[in-house]
Amino acid sequence: MLFALAVIPAFAIAYLVIFQNPELLFEHHGFHEAAIGISLLQGAFIAYVTYQCYLRTKEPFLCWLTLAFLGFTLIYAWHGVFTRLADNHMMLFILYGPASRLVMACCLFIGLLSYGREHQQQLTIKTNKFWWRSIGAFIGISVVVFLLALSSWAQLLRWLLELAAMCMMLSCALIIVLRRIRSPLITVYAIAVVYFALSSLAFMLSEAWNHQWWLAHAIFAIGFMALSYSVIQGYLTTGSFSRVHSQAQLFEQLQAEKERTNEALLKLQNAHKELEIIAATDSLTGCANRRGFEAQSVVEISRTQRSGAPLSFVTLDLDHFKQINDQHGHTIGDTVLKEFVKLIQKTLRPTDVLGRIGGEEFALLLPNTSFENAVSMAEQLRQLVEDEVFVIEGTRIQLTVSLGIAQYGPDGETYESLFKAADHRMYSAKDLGRNQVISG
Ligand code: GH3
Ligand code: MG
Ligand code: MG
Repeated sequence: MLFALAVIPAFAIAYLVIFQNPELLFEHHGFHEAAIGISLLQGAFIAYVTYQCYLRTKEPFLCWLTLAFLGFTLIYAWHGVFTRLADNHMMLFILYGPASRLVMACCLFIGLLSYGREHQQQLTIKTNKFWWRSIGAFIGISVVVFLLALSSWAQLLRWLLELAAMCMMLSCALIIVLRRIRSPLITVYAIAVVYFALSSLAFMLSEAWNHQWWLAHAIFAIGFMALSYSVIQGYLTTGSFSRVHSQAQLFEQLQAEKERTNEALLKLQNAHKELEIIAATDSLTGCANRRGFEAQSVVEISRTQRSGAPLSFVTLDLDHFKQINDQHGHTIGDTVLKEFVKLIQKTLRPTDVLGRIGGEEFALLLPNTSFENAVSMAEQLRQLVEDEVFVIEGTRIQLTVSLGIAQYGPDGETYESLFKAADHRMYSAKDLGRNQVISG
């Protein structure tokens, strides 16, 4: 379909060749000047937009595309300026057309050779000097064309320049096909260069002012519009010709990005969960730390508030633990703390919560446990600890623990009040000689 679209002008050209009298002229200077004026304005505008894209991306391809538009505009302008000389100095009027197309074709050709090679070279912006030199070169070419138009080879040159422009434009299309350059903008670009080539063909088959000649202008204008369109599309997106993607590619990329985002989100969620666990766990003993214990207690207390089930609260503090540190060292003290937690955890139900509140002070939350049951459980724990002999690095260590018990309801209905009551009783146990349970 793209190919069909590219060669449609050929049918129009053939139609005029076969059915139209080439001597039928539409010689209207004003109309020609207006048309050229519009194309020059467009050429200058598009040269500027392409230059802006070039500044953004530094792609050499865009540098040459800017030159193509600039060169065309500067040389083609004389074709409009000399419209009124068409009657007396036909070649002066005509020759700027093929010259401008050939200059444009050369720039497009060189640009295409550097397409996609950005990564092979250091990308630097051409200096103002380069651009002024280029403008100077285009003015120089205009002067040369002026001189050639006055020479006796002018007629021959018209054909040669047009033929060269056509071959150059076709070579551009060929490069795109051979190098398999695939990008939506380059596709439009390829159609444009085929139109330029066909317009040169039509110019070769035409005489000034006849219908083939006007058709050639129209074909060139369509190609020019298409190329301008792709430049503006580039400008409105990435500024690049190669990095503007088709919708299908964009959706593919979007999908891939979405999957990556989801994956990252999942990882983040997992990491967050892990962090939450770490933040709520005591690193030495593995039981809940003060923060985690409080959070779980608040949940259990509000559950008790709803269900009306009993709930008991116990605080435990190891007796004379400082002495263990003093006698055996801090490291063994640490191991004792770990072993103590293991021992307690063995006796707990899955719903019970053990937390390390401070150095060697712990708390126990006992859901669905009546005060009486809590007292006997605390007594069992006290006994268990008293009977246990911790053997650490060959050292036998024994300890005792003091416990205080509070009851949801009589001792309050908040974490703070339960903690305060239990802690108070635990200190009473200390005062009364340690290694005992105080429940009221
Ligand atoms: P009491 O019977 O009155 O509770 O006496 P105590 O020695 O246990 O109490 P005190 O508050 O005077 O001292 C607590 C000691 O617990 C002090 C400190 O050396 C020790 N301790 C606190 N945290 C840790 C810990 O993480 N590791 C070790 N090895 N010892 C700790
Ligand atoms: Mg202690
Ligand atoms: Mg203490």
